[in-house]
Amino acid sequence: MKSEELFNDAKNYLPGGVDSPVRAFKPYPFFALKGERSRLFDVDGNTYIDYCLAYGPLVLGHAYPPVMNAVKEQLLKGSAYGVPTENEIKLAKEVVRRMPCAEMVRFVNSGTEATMSAIRLARAVTGKKKIVKFEGTYHGAHDYVLVKSGSGAMGLPDSPGIPEETTKNTVLIPFNDEEAITALVERQGDDLAAIILEPVMGNVGCIPPKKGFLEFLREITLENNIILIFDEVITGFRIAEGGAQEYFGVTPDLVTMGKILGGGFPMGAFAGKKEFMERVAPAGDVYQAGTFNGNPISITAGLETLKHLDNEFYQELDIKGLKMRRGIEDILEDASLDYQVAGLASMFQLYFTNEPVWNYAQAKTANTDKFHKYFHTLLHGGVFIPPSQFECCFISKAHSSEDIQISLEIMEKGIKTAEKK
Ligand SMILES: *Cc1c(COP(=O)(O)O)cnc(C)c1O
Repeated sequence: MKSEELFNDAKNYLPGGVDSPVRAFKPYPFFALKGERSRLFDVDGNTYIDYCLAYGPLVLGHAYPPVMNAVKEQLLKGSAYGVPTENEIKLAKEVVRRMPCAEMVRFVNSGTEATMSAIRLARAVTGKKKIVKFEGTYHGAHDYVLVKSGSGAMGLPDSPGIPEETTKNTVLIPFNDEEAITALVERQGDDLAAIILEPVMGNVGCIPPKKGFLEFLREITLENNIILIFDEVITGFRIAEGGAQEYFGVTPDLVTMGKILGGGFPMGAFAGKKEFMERVAPAGDVYQAGTFNGNPISITAGLETLKHLDNEFYQELDIKGLKMRRGIEDILEDASLDYQVAGLASMFQLYFTNEPVWNYAQAKTANTDKFHKYFHTLLHGGVFIPPSQFECCFISKAHSSEDIQISLEIMEKGIKTAEKK
């Protein structure tokens, strides 16, 4: 097994054998050879229908030819300049056209940088210190938000190396709980700079907001001079042209983006009202900088990707998502199981719990041993989903109805295997 050999070798040079924790699964992760449409190929000659899709970015599937060609063309002209390019304006205009809250954009290199910078901006704008995050949301791996933050960090709520002084300004509350927020704002509203959230939680499986919850957050933040930040690193360009803010019709003050925005290349961004964004340097005094910010390769890939994402595209993609969720529900019904099929649009996850999942604590009731058996049956059957119960699965344009049909057959096997003693 070449993957096994490579993993053993990798462990000597890369901590845990990987460059990001969730990629390491037992007994060893497969090593990629190439990706093509809905398929991922490994170095051992196996092929997988891929619902991980690099954890979200590949909404058009692997190696989508128009994007690859645009990048090839750009590559011949150089990969970094240290001066601006016209394409940065074009992509910024696209973001502004699509995202209801966006009037100006700063491009950065990752979702992590985007949330870090948006939080700094919110603190500067309000002159307040504390931020509110929800249990189980993930906003990247920086100090302010690495507190009870879902999949990769689950079980390590406070990583060693993060001073208490840093996280004492991060207030945690349960998702979908209006009373908890009302009480918190009454007590500490004068200290709260921002509420940051994933409008659809995508890092503890997949948890949508309850009806009215986002509207409630919008109202209470406006009344109390608190900046509302939607972290749309997953939902942006995934669930609608204008992300969750379009999908749910609630406009935040700031939005953070990443994943799909870079068209499969490293990129992040934050955006919002002009009056806030003009505080960002060099227009204003809030420092933010990056050698690779607005990198021409990533910008080109993002620009080409967005060209293929219109309303019709999302309608077609959502039908596939529905087909997948309904298919899993049918399997569960036939097996007389009461597990939760979660998700919306092209996002889905199966929770091995009978309890409805509206927050982190409820997600944690899922049986991870059963998930583990399900995951390995899928993997063995040529279907790759993220190796954690607390991640979200994604569907791309490249997934055919037949792909979904084949996958459902393997999933049925996986569910049956999970139930065996
Ligand atoms: C992935 C993710 C991030 C972090 O993005 P990186 O590019 O991995 O730094 C932030 N927020 C959400 C909601 C994410 O899913």
